[in-house]
Amino acid sequence: MAAGGDVGHEVRGYRCHDGPVPALDPLPAVRVRAFEVVTVTLPLKMPMTTAAGRHDHRDVLLVHVEADEAEGWAECAVEPDPTYSPEFAAAARLVLLDHLLPRAAAGGAAGDAATLGDALRVVRGHEAARAAVELAVLDAQLRAAHRSLADWLGATATAVPAGAALGLHDAVDDLLAEADDALRAGAARLRVKVAPGRAAGPLQALRAHVGDGVPLQADANGSFSLDDPELRALDDAGLACLEQPLDPTDLLGHARLADALATPICLDEPLTSLGAVEAAVALGACEVVCLKPARVGGWRQARAVHDRCVQLGVPVWVGGMLETGVGRAANLAVAALPGMALAPDLDPRGRYDPDLAELRVPVDGAVAVPDGPGTGATPDAGLLAAAEVVRVLVP
Ligand code: MG
Repeated sequence: MAAGGDVGHEVRGYRCHDGPVPALDPLPAVRVRAFEVVTVTLPLKMPMTTAAGRHDHRDVLLVHVEADEAEGWAECAVEPDPTYSPEFAAAARLVLLDHLLPRAAAGGAAGDAATLGDALRVVRGHEAARAAVELAVLDAQLRAAHRSLADWLGATATAVPAGAALGLHDAVDDLLAEADDALRAGAARLRVKVAPGRAAGPLQALRAHVGDGVPLQADANGSFSLDDPELRALDDAGLACLEQPLDPTDLLGHARLADALATPICLDEPLTSLGAVEAAVALGACEVVCLKPARVGGWRQARAVHDRCVQLGVPVWVGGMLETGVGRAANLAVAALPGMALAPDLDPRGRYDPDLAELRVPVDGAVAVPDGPGTGATPDAGLLAAAEVVRVLVP
């Protein structure tokens, strides 16, 4: 849907790319003088309620690289609580300051994202923190080389359709009103947070409200049990996919559910690496892949997951973590790759007001892919004036 031109084939109603994807070019290293960990609090434009709780503001964690040739920025895509993933903001900040940046500063490879990213894998887990360090250096390298992240990754789309994520609502009318709001803003598909007792009824009402032409997805964030009869009732809502119905560790349960439901099962939380994607697909637990570059440890790794999904014929799309414009710009580069089969999480309403960086707003329902150097987004200096900054010098 996002890209791919005429090349591709159908898998369960999804258009899947099967053309060639070129190898990534090596980039000249930059001379890094310092890393900074930057924390700034921003209000969410729309409070977000999921199966795990309600959020109305966000402590945004950024990694900044100062190099002789250029600076680089990356947003660390983590949540405030360890309810989506074991990795969360305070832990990521500690891992950055105590484990990743000291190694990056001392290892002699701080100026090359590929070499540095591989070296930092000595720190287990903490994928989003590792991804932020690697992306900040990559951003500086790309800015120094006057290349965009999208171009370097092999993106083929210049704009991608924007998908909106709708939170949990106690009243169905509130869900329908939020859906209308997102569709008016240009959303090409709707992804709805669901939880036990608040899934089948609201989704069937939403389907009746928006008609058959709007792709709908549901995301349960692992809140259901395999024997819950409401999961079977979801088959009537005509979903493009049902995301993470069961606990992230329950791959066999997801495989059994995939056998029982006509709705394709999508996984998110457990797909923390290319190997995890391979295992979940091989088990029959994952029929659609939600790809979050931070969750797989970086943008090179995201390209590898994208490429493998293309090889396997597994539909893939880019999910979001309530990023600011800085993180959304970097995700857009992946969402513009040719293998994307479903619109990414790029809520056209935006998530923050004010935002750290403004994306070019939807035109005919599509968000422009940044084509400036690096990710194409630099955080607003005025908003960063109140940020807490910790500096790590590179000798
Ligand atoms: Mg999800």
